[in-house]
Amino acid sequence: MPDDCLFCKIVAGDISADVVRETDRTVAFRDINPQAPTHILVIPREHHADLGELVGNEALLAAVLNETTAVAAGEGLESYRVLFNTGSQAGQTVFHVHAHVLGGRRMNWPPG
Ligand code: AMP
Ligand code: ZN
Repeated sequence: MPDDCLFCKIVAGDISADVVRETDRTVAFRDINPQAPTHILVIPREHHADLGELVGNEALLAAVLNETTAVAAGEGLESYRVLFNTGSQAGQTVFHVHAHVLGGRRMNWPPG
């Protein structure tokens, strides 16, 4: 793992987070700067910088996606949005791949 990766530090327990679900392959925790009443990040325990790095690792990609559904169900969300910001121009600031699960309010489309 890169020494300077914030989310690897959360996986390792070196930085605390409000963890809502864990599996052997993933961790889900509340975003520190929520953009909706429910805003949870789902990450693989393994370090991969972005979605593109999960190409060829379908089992891990499926584990992350399955967890987004489990998180939404756990939060009682019928409507929710799952997104992966990929690349800095798309708003990615933490380069450890993560799915945002957002819900609890009406979502605009298209996003800004
Ligand atoms: P992104 O901009 O797509 O890379 O998303 C990174 C997200 O991580 C942002 O929504 C941040 O608010 C969130 N974030 C940053 N640091 C923490 C932290 N220590 N605990 C929880 N969420 C964080
Ligand atoms: Zn990492």
